[in-house]
Amino acid sequence: MTGTTQDDYTDRYARRVRGMTTSEIRALFATASRPEVVSLAGGSPYIAALPLDAVGEMLGDLASKQGATSLQYSIGQGTVELRERICEVMTLSGIHNASPDDVVVTVGGQQALDLLARLFLDPGDVVLAEGPTYVGALGVFQAAQAQVRHVAMDAEGLIPEALEEAIEATARAGRKAKFLYTIPTFQNPAGVTLSEDRRERVLDICERAGLLVVEDDPYGMLAFEGEAPLPLRARRREGVFYCSTFSKTFAPGLRVGWILAPHAVREKLVMMSEANVLCPSAFAQGAVSQYLSTMPWREQLKVYREIYRERRDALLGALDDLMPAGTTWTRPTGGLFVWATLPEGLDSKAMMPRAIAARVAYVPGTGFYADGTGRNNMRLNFSFSAPDRLREGVRRLSGVMEQELAM
Ligand code: PMP
Repeated sequence: MTGTTQDDYTDRYARRVRGMTTSEIRALFATASRPEVVSLAGGSPYIAALPLDAVGEMLGDLASKQGATSLQYSIGQGTVELRERICEVMTLSGIHNASPDDVVVTVGGQQALDLLARLFLDPGDVVLAEGPTYVGALGVFQAAQAQVRHVAMDAEGLIPEALEEAIEATARAGRKAKFLYTIPTFQNPAGVTLSEDRRERVLDICERAGLLVVEDDPYGMLAFEGEAPLPLRARRREGVFYCSTFSKTFAPGLRVGWILAPHAVREKLVMMSEANVLCPSAFAQGAVSQYLSTMPWREQLKVYREIYRERRDALLGALDDLMPAGTTWTRPTGGLFVWATLPEGLDSKAMMPRAIAARVAYVPGTGFYADGTGRNNMRLNFSFSAPDRLREGVRRLSGVMEQELAM
């Protein structure tokens, strides 16, 4: 069967698989990882900023000194030690009332979303989510055969009136919205943050409508200007599922994330996770626990913030200087991404092969919507490339855009 694209299994796939298509963008990303291409596309943290020698030594110790536990099966909910450490980490974001008993360790932030989808979504259910939203969440909701209805954002994040409207429109269509999926802080891909005032309003609206809130917060600790607003979970204990991950603050390769769930629900989540992966990796959990207990992780966070702030400034400066007139973009105060809106007539998806030929990559906006909109948008990452590379990337990108506009 190698070398052929024909798929003889089509008729046998489960219904939830039938809507899944491989995107042409994925093929382009293989080229985008070549060293001569400036990639503004990924979402990778700048791992080189970690003290890799010390981390390596720690991992060696973990196998040689604690092998009997770190190489053994763990428990479905995750080790007590790590769950205690996670509660300590969450206090930095302003969540002080979490019990380790209500934390479920997951295989990255991605599995957290998958578990919540499995727990709450029946085929045909509606999920409300910011437009645009995290592409990996769209994949999870699609696999659950749920329908995503997007809610508009502006510079202050999700627009409360648009949320109310979306809830009403869903009800009018005779459908049930199960939860709001939101990334309130340093949103992926938009780079905007839900303002203090709107946080309360959004919570009130969801409470009144009986809508659960899934708060995804991988970036909250990467603030560049002061601290991020308090998470939704710090304001409401019930009805809010708080998800986060060590992928952006430590190491995505370890695949360790978590859910802080309302107490009553945590057991079901653990059962879901056991059916799914038995238990998260004991070794990865040991690595994160060791990192948090023996290494200066708070200092490391400051290092990341410094590096990313400098890179954000470099990217925004380059956009200011070089982008064609009519292009606009967000000005994130944390996180990893800028969201750009292109001048009328440009199509970020169609332009992608030409951008790759010009040795620059980005993610076209369409990936972040369930309904194919976003053609005049793109997501630009600033965490991975050094400032001069970011500027060179923008120079190449604006060259491609100028050419398209002249066509
Ligand atoms: N949620 C959001 C908003 C993300 O941006 C990401 C990663 N890019 C994830 C979840 C998944 O995190 P992880 O890599 O830990 O699975």
